[in-house]
Amino acid sequence: MTRIYNFSAGPSTFPQEVLEQASSELLEWHEKGLSVLEMTHRGKDFVGIAQKAEADLRDLLGIPSHYKVLFLQGGATTQFAAVPLNLLGAKGRAAYVLTGIWAEKAIREAEKYGEIDVVASSEAESFTVIPDLSGVRLDERTAYFHYTSNETIGGLEFQSIPEIKDVPLVTDASSNILSRSLEVNRFGLIYAGAQKNLGPAGITVVIVREDLLGRARPETPTLLDYSVQAKNESMLNTPPTYSWYLLGLVLEWLKKQGGVAAIETRNIRKAKKLYDYIDASPFYVSPVDPRFRSRMNVPFRLGNDALEKSFIEEAKDAGLINLEGHRSVGGLRASIYNAQPEAAVDALINFLKYFEGVHAA
Ligand code: PMP
Repeated sequence: MTRIYNFSAGPSTFPQEVLEQASSELLEWHEKGLSVLEMTHRGKDFVGIAQKAEADLRDLLGIPSHYKVLFLQGGATTQFAAVPLNLLGAKGRAAYVLTGIWAEKAIREAEKYGEIDVVASSEAESFTVIPDLSGVRLDERTAYFHYTSNETIGGLEFQSIPEIKDVPLVTDASSNILSRSLEVNRFGLIYAGAQKNLGPAGITVVIVREDLLGRARPETPTLLDYSVQAKNESMLNTPPTYSWYLLGLVLEWLKKQGGVAAIETRNIRKAKKLYDYIDASPFYVSPVDPRFRSRMNVPFRLGNDALEKSFIEEAKDAGLINLEGHRSVGGLRASIYNAQPEAAVDALINFLKYFEGVHAA
């Protein structure tokens, strides 16, 4: 089998070593006579798998002991509702930063549950910059401050944690968790769908400071109540066992790569190569302000829809797939998460050169 280079934004490329390990363990896990797929989640073996995944995540991110780590279902989209349901409390108000499509979805959902102040936005700049937060003043009833650390569609990434004092900081880190170092202790809550840097679709990680538990509104669905999930070790009902197991394998792989610091160095190198090529070429354009470009999702344009269509088709023939931009914005986009080998980025740059050579006027 020749593996193709997959630039999908998620579900996305897995580390090949993890696929090989999962494949070798699929029929029988650790000489136990059964597959992980068949294990009861209450049994010692699966509980061990789950606990190891949590321990590795704590280790990789340096998660302090006064934070709970939850492994939930429903994707990051469910967290758009769970966050306000759990954290708005009696204050009933929250501050959100609008940086693109994912932030907007989080805002629209939160508005169902309370008063949402969009305290900063880069909509007027077509989401090509991270807005300046220095002048932000929070209403005294603000229960938390939410931002999207990486806009997967727009390719826009916060390069540092906002300096927000006095209220819990909440971030949707779905598309950049574990790609760069993160001071967890600056946050009240971090959430991320797994299908980019953590593993497979179907499992979502929530890291929440313990003092924020126990504040859910009475009407909060039981499954979305963080304190109930924490008390039940994320096993209130049947968890997505196989996704949890695969997530654990991805974390083990990341530790073998040298952890977050080592992968961050590699991610910086991969993204720089690609942006440098795009910037040096008169043929391709990166729409995002260089100060805020995402290391994970690299959108670019050719300024001609027909040419972009040919690009996608010819790239596919060359073994490079899923280079189309999100259906809502069009254009082109290369997602280069942790597991994307540097060779894939090199192959893409070679293809960019080739395509430019053939099609540039
Ligand atoms: N937030 C961000 C930043 C995302 O990229 C995505 C998915 N691409 C979501 C939220 C929604 O995630 P899910 O599909 O897991 O609900």
